[in-house]
Amino acid sequence: MIKRLFGALLLISLFFCGCVKKEQAVQDELTAIKNKDLLIVGVKTDIPPFGYLDKNGQNIGFDIDLAKFIAKRLLGDENKISFVSVNSSNRIMKLTSKEVDIVIATMSITPSRQVIMDFSIPYHTAGQAIMVKKDSKISSLMELENKKAIIVFGSTVEKSLRSNVPNITIIGYKTYTEAFQALKENKADALIADDTILLGFALNDSSVKILPKRYSKEPYAVAFRKGESSLIEEVNMILQEAINRGEIRQLKEKWGIN
Ligand code: GLU
Repeated sequence: MIKRLFGALLLISLFFCGCVKKEQAVQDELTAIKNKDLLIVGVKTDIPPFGYLDKNGQNIGFDIDLAKFIAKRLLGDENKISFVSVNSSNRIMKLTSKEVDIVIATMSITPSRQVIMDFSIPYHTAGQAIMVKKDSKISSLMELENKKAIIVFGSTVEKSLRSNVPNITIIGYKTYTEAFQALKENKADALIADDTILLGFALNDSSVKILPKRYSKEPYAVAFRKGESSLIEEVNMILQEAINRGEIRQLKEKWGIN
């Protein structure tokens, strides 16, 4: 009887210990952000309409508005936010080295990224597309075999292109601005990137065109350091509510995103 009672007590205490510990861990990341009263977000600064700079050097775009929306819900003020410029190849490092709290930067959820980081629910889905000069005869990915294509280092295209078109010559750039400029200067036959990003560049430029086919599904999400469960839960709740209330759709309309 005593043995059983002792066993039951042990089980109960283990259960509560586990819960308390979990609860503490759960509160920690979120509490850290709340304590410093500031959300530090890694964003793009050269990708209209997602993350770029206005004439005065202010961060603007869909991802920026989304970051402000999250800061408002987390800290009660959309201005309690600090933006750090990231590109496709340094954003994971800036996150894991704790230079930023979260990344909102046209970043797709992929299985290999999920090994080293966590993601929110997706807030947008893009697809890889090909951009060529207006007079180009290229009409598909396969026609780029033995030709040159521009990509941005650290993007999902870099990986998929190497495996899907083995005989392609890849010319990589650090930023989309440089990549777009390189296509305009005929440094390669095509630029391959997410359609929504290409659209932003093509909008005011009649010297390029985007081919109709899409080669992937790119679910954009907020990226976190691995295991920040409290923060992830909170951000997911904020995003889900924003999706349900149509606020994400309104933001997309504001920035001309389909
Ligand atoms: N969505 C793709 C990615 O996460 C391409 C856009 C980007 O380079 O940020 O890699």
